[in-house]
Amino acid sequence: MTWTPPEVPPADEMTAAWWDATREHRLTVQTCDCGHRQHPPRAVCTGCGDTEHLTQVDATGAGTVDAFTVVHRAPRTGVETPYVVARVRLVEGPILLTRLPSDRDWSIGDPVTVGWLDLPDGRALPLFTHPEQRN
Ligand SMILES: [Zn+2]
Repeated sequence: MTWTPPEVPPADEMTAAWWDATREHRLTVQTCDCGHRQHPPRAVCTGCGDTEHLTQVDATGAGTVDAFTVVHRAPRTGVETPYVVARVRLVEGPILLTRLPSDRDWSIGDPVTVGWLDLPDGRALPLFTHPEQRN
């Protein structure tokens, strides 16, 4: 996959556990004792309001395309186009904003599976591909 990685924000207190898991290529979702799952990690469960019992739990990495757009105009010089920005709904429920390979005609509902782009600082970005494209 050839594309320019976006600027990735540093981990903070809230997102550190999520980012740490990406170093091992583990996709996690924040899960509350009430059973609610959410992403990105927050200080409060949006299901029940609890603040004490939120943990990062491994996700399967499988999901479906919830929405997407193909970007043809580079937002700044040096960014390769076209690229595909997508919302992926994980089978666990939460939605991730991510990218998809641009060499495929995507449709809403297409199955996707997680892959990883390693960042220079040891973290990794989850990028999704069609299961048949897995490399
Ligand atoms: Zn909860």
